[in-house]
Order: sequence, then C-alpha cells, then structure tokens
Amino acid sequence: MTIHFFNGFTCNARLPASWHTGQLCLLLETRQGLVLVDTGLGRADYVHQPGILHTFKVVTTVPLNPGEAAVCQVARLGYRPEDVRHVVLTHMHFDHCGGLPDFPHARVHVHRRELQAFTGRRRRWTDWAYVRRHVAHRPEFQLYDDAGERWFDLPAIPLPFEPEMWLVPLFGHTRGHCGVAVHTGSGWLFHVGDAAPVGFTESVPRWLARLVTGPHVPRLRAFQAAHPGIRLTTGHMWLDFFDDAVCFREGPAR
Ligand SMILES: [Zn+2]
Repeated sequence: MTIHFFNGFTCNARLPASWHTGQLCLLLETRQGLVLVDTGLGRADYVHQPGILHTFKVVTTVPLNPGEAAVCQVARLGYRPEDVRHVVLTHMHFDHCGGLPDFPHARVHVHRRELQAFTGRRRRWTDWAYVRRHVAHRPEFQLYDDAGERWFDLPAIPLPFEPEMWLVPLFGHTRGHCGVAVHTGSGWLFHVGDAAPVGFTESVPRWLARLVTGPHVPRLRAFQAAHPGIRLTTGHMWLDFFDDAVCFREGPAR
C-alpha cells in the first residue's frame, strides 16, 4: 500500500524554541479508495481562525500557511477532494479535524465516545479544542464502539478497509481518542495520535506528558519494545520527519 505522510498544521513551541512540529496526516490508498487519517486545519480555518488558535499562540508560534490544508496537499499529489472517500479521526480537536468541511463527500469514521465528547457539554480543559463548525456541513459519520477484539495485545476495533486497519482506543487525551493501526503490506504502522508526545520524545516531564496526552505513554513504550518491527508515529511529529518520510510504498498486502 502507498501511504503519503503530510503535515497538516505546523506548530512551533516558544519554549524550547527548537521544538518545531507538524501535525501528521496519513493518506492511504486502500481498496475502498483514499482514506485520510486526520485532516489538520481546513481552508476556512485560515480565513476565520478558531478562537482556540489564539490561545495556542500564547505558547506556540503558528506560521499558518494555507498550503498546509489537507485539500491542497491532496491536490498536489494529483487527487481531487472527492477522491478522499473516507476520513478516519484519532480525535476531533481542531488541529485534527478542521479539514473535514473540505471533504464533504467523505464518510467520517470515529469512535462514538469521541463524537459524544465533541457534541456534549465541555467538561475538561481539552474540550475547548473542539470547534463545532468543523461538522456544520453534517458529514456522514460511521461510529464505532468497543468490539471485544484485539490487535496484538491491545483492545481494538476493525475498520472496513483493505489492507487491514484497526481503531485502537487510547482514551485520555480526549474521552474518545483512538490510535489507528494500518497494515502496510509488509508490516504494521501504528499511529498513536495524541496519546504520546511529539515523536515519543523523552524530554517532556512525565507528569506533563500524562496531563496532555493521557495515561498510555508507559504502555505504548512497552508495546514499542515488545514489537520493534512495528513503526509508531504520533499525532505531532518533528518537522524534519516530513522531509524524510513524505511517502512510502510497501509490497502487496498479505
Ligand atoms: Zn488533540
């Protein structure tokens, strides 16, 4: 399967100033058509910046380059927006689903608990990163509940794509946050979304990592150690990741 990686939202920390990150979007060529995992910001977000972005600007610098909108990057790869048939969301924070309105034909796959958190009463600080207008176009949702199945040793929910994909509940960063596992043809890619800090960096104090990303970092590190052949990615990656890993192709699916 061919997997395109791109950065849907550059966000650089003010402290440490060397922390330059991009929000990782995956574009997968599956038998069911193009599947986009997370969208970054949408075109409208550059015109009418969501209020949360102003809060973000206190601790980060955000260059806000409209060319980073997923719909522009999909076009650069030679596809039309309507070729993206499905969007899978790790969670619905503005920097992961802001691009939904740019793909109005896509079916949106997300854990039921995440949509409930998005539409429900705001109960915790991370809920303020939900921007309701991102679903004002009323996309068709396909919602998932825990299925009692496992991907390796993690509880997981099968997604309806070939090659095989799984939604892996990692609740904590948000109430319905999930990782996404993808069979690449010759191995597995496990995108853990915002359940771990940028590129699994160890330089974030543990209490802070837990506060921001939720409780799964120790578990994910253990998973990584137990399965060294599985490639793990996080929702935000160091900017240079996108220079080296823009696209990779692997052999035919099992
Ligand atoms: Zn988030």
